Amino acid sequence: MTDAHQLRLLAVHAHPDDESSKGAATMARYVAEGVEVLVATCTGGERGSVLNPALDRPEVWERLPQLRVEEMARAREILGVSQEFLGFVDSGLPEGDPLPPLPEGCFALVPTEEAAAPLVELIRRFRPHVVLTYDENGGYPHPDHIKTHEISVHAFEAAGDPERYPDLGEPWQPSKLYYHMTFTLTRVRALHEAMLEAGAESPYAEWLANWDPERDMSARVTTRVPCAEYFPVRDAALIAHATQIDPAGRWFACPMDVQQQVWPTEDYELARSLVDSPLPEDDLFAGIRSEVPVP
Ligand SMILES: [Zn+2]
Repeated sequence: MTDAHQLRLLAVHAHPDDESSKGAATMARYVAEGVEVLVATCTGGERGSVLNPALDRPEVWERLPQLRVEEMARAREILGVSQEFLGFVDSGLPEGDPLPPLPEGCFALVPTEEAAAPLVELIRRFRPHVVLTYDENGGYPHPDHIKTHEISVHAFEAAGDPERYPDLGEPWQPSKLYYHMTFTLTRVRALHEAMLEAGAESPYAEWLANWDPERDMSARVTTRVPCAEYFPVRDAALIAHATQIDPAGRWFACPMDVQQQVWPTEDYELARSLVDSPLPEDDLFAGIRSEVPVP
């Protein structure tokens, strides 16, 4: 379905589960409004861990790559999105001092020109108006997240240029590129204070105490998309990634009604735009809807 009246959104993510923790309610809202939404997952998450204590068993570890594919299939059904793997291999999160070298052949080591090729092909085939990705720090410093940012920016700029990647389809220039601004100090602090006010225990105290205000992204937010109605869909999709999430953990500690009242949006930074849309905005398609009439 690529007719001229259809709005399309492409979200580029590093691992299966990232699409459910960043921008999931936004995607569910746009799906409900008739937007076609596609998630591109760069890697299979092969080097992830089992992060749910209830599933931390040898037979789960053995089947982890296959389980992550199955979990992704359930999550995309819950969100109502289409999804494709780009086929790169998870780099893993290097730990230790000094950090060990990245494993040979992993996504983060593929040169950006080459690593962006499948995404250029996908953009030319799917023809999104809006592309979502991570900021230059990856949102958090996982090498695959930083690489995801690099190939997204590269592909956003190359996909519309007939001189670049000439064998990968008809050029298509998306109109807007956004970075997720999900974890801002302002938001976490607001949720923390609301929980304390409600007499609940907040799981965020330590996180906030260690937060360097210099590293807060709140001032970069240009676009707040109201999507509180879809927070339960987001949580259901996240729980579908059963090996990756502890249902009793910090993710789900803040009561749904507190989240919906205190911070009813998911937030973004408009990083590139080829259309006119006054900031701040509350819609990723602001400035585009007038050109693409939705029937
Ligand atoms: Zn990830």
